[in-house]
Amino acid sequence: MQVTFLGTRGEIKPKSKRHSMHTATLFSHEGSRVMIDCGETWLKKIKRMRPDHIILTHAHPDHAYGLKEGAPCPVWATKQTWKLLDRFPIPKSQRRIIEPYKKKRIGGIQFEAFKLLHSIRCPAVGYRITRGNMRLFYAPDVAWIEKMEKALKRIELYIGDGATITRPMIRKVKGTDQIFGHANVRQQLTWCQKMKVPKMIVTHCGSAIVTHENKAQKQISSLAEELNVAVEIAYDGMKL
Ligand SMILES: [Zn+2]
Ligand SMILES: [Zn+2]
Repeated sequence: MQVTFLGTRGEIKPKSKRHSMHTATLFSHEGSRVMIDCGETWLKKIKRMRPDHIILTHAHPDHAYGLKEGAPCPVWATKQTWKLLDRFPIPKSQRRIIEPYKKKRIGGIQFEAFKLLHSIRCPAVGYRITRGNMRLFYAPDVAWIEKMEKALKRIELYIGDGATITRPMIRKVKGTDQIFGHANVRQQLTWCQKMKVPKMIVTHCGSAIVTHENKAQKQISSLAEELNVAVEIAYDGMKL
């Protein structure tokens, strides 16, 4: 299975050569191409990517609005996400439903959706992705992973949210304990350390990474070193 980081930018104004397109990642296996997420910057470019399937994490513009004029292939999303995207001109025959915690084989690769805390209005999922011996977890926008132990158990790679490195971006719904927003890179590295995940790749980069990448790189490397987790910042076009 080959992993290509097609886009690595979050929902922010600043962009750079390395982080220009909204966060989207391609998983390809034996000629089939499965793309996760398709944000607004992909609107006129999606056909050229020739995806066989598109899988969505949630309905935020930087993850789904590349499909607002339709889709070139079947699109997979949770029922909640489809409700929010109902107005998009995607025919019923192309709409596929992903149910959380049910393994699904798409393009020869196994995907299992896990509920994430991230947005109240646009409920998000992350994916545990398995192909042969390769196991990884993909969560571009995440404040917390429900069933984290099950999600990260024996994975080799965690692909996570780079919206913020250490600045807090988690908020609470007034009067409740429910959180939303983005866990910072430091928190996600702590999850990796606890769950014995050897490596994190940072995508969905926020302003701190996009505008001062060298400084961000040093900061992230030293956090990762402290926690004994390997780390890499993804850039548009990076392949694994
Ligand atoms: Zn996002
Ligand atoms: Zn989001």
